[in-house]
Amino acid sequence: MTEARRKDSDRRIGRRALLVGGAAAAVGSVALAREELAQLYWRLPGVRRPRVEGAVDYRGARWVAASEANFRWADRPDDYGIDMVVIHVTQGDLASAVAAFENPGHRAAAHYIVGQDGHVTQMIRELDVAYHAGNRAYNERSVGIEHEGFVDRPEDFTDAMYTASARLTARICGRYGIPVDREHVIGHVEVPGTDHTDPGEHWDWDRYLRLVTEARTAST
Ligand SMILES: [Zn+2]
Repeated sequence: MTEARRKDSDRRIGRRALLVGGAAAAVGSVALAREELAQLYWRLPGVRRPRVEGAVDYRGARWVAASEANFRWADRPDDYGIDMVVIHVTQGDLASAVAAFENPGHRAAAHYIVGQDGHVTQMIRELDVAYHAGNRAYNERSVGIEHEGFVDRPEDFTDAMYTASARLTARICGRYGIPVDREHVIGHVEVPGTDHTDPGEHWDWDRYLRLVTEARTAST
């Protein structure tokens, strides 16, 4: 190890100790046991919790890892509560969306992509903060779902896609106690500050919410 590298790792350890110390102070207790400190450590924003390689949050989803440049490691819902699902449209086919999310230069990715054939690809764990909404607070509180197609081609929004996406959203809403309504299941276009228009005028919100509600009812 070179001198410069050793200094760098020393600094990292120093910063970690400082962060844990700060968190302990915030809790207001001077008597935190070592194990409690270790638990707190995982609750700090941006800290990677150990996880199983290739695990998905939605049964049947195919796992393809997004580039680490396109999301932030987190420990949701413990560090950030999740109360929203954001609906997107890829403006391209599934393969191009997967390639974009694997590309560190893209600087954006969603948790899931639903194909026109109804297959679900997961690229970021729900634990983590995906850069999909273009708004930090909304990224931290939401799960992002992309849909394969173009906003100006209504034929891209297939029955299989609506059904599969609704099941996925129903599962997410059930897991985090998110109400199935338009306050909590929103389009990218509704995120404050965005210049994106997806999912666009051809996305059938009434149909989608009805399908999510049905899937939610069926699973409870
Ligand atoms: Zn979008």
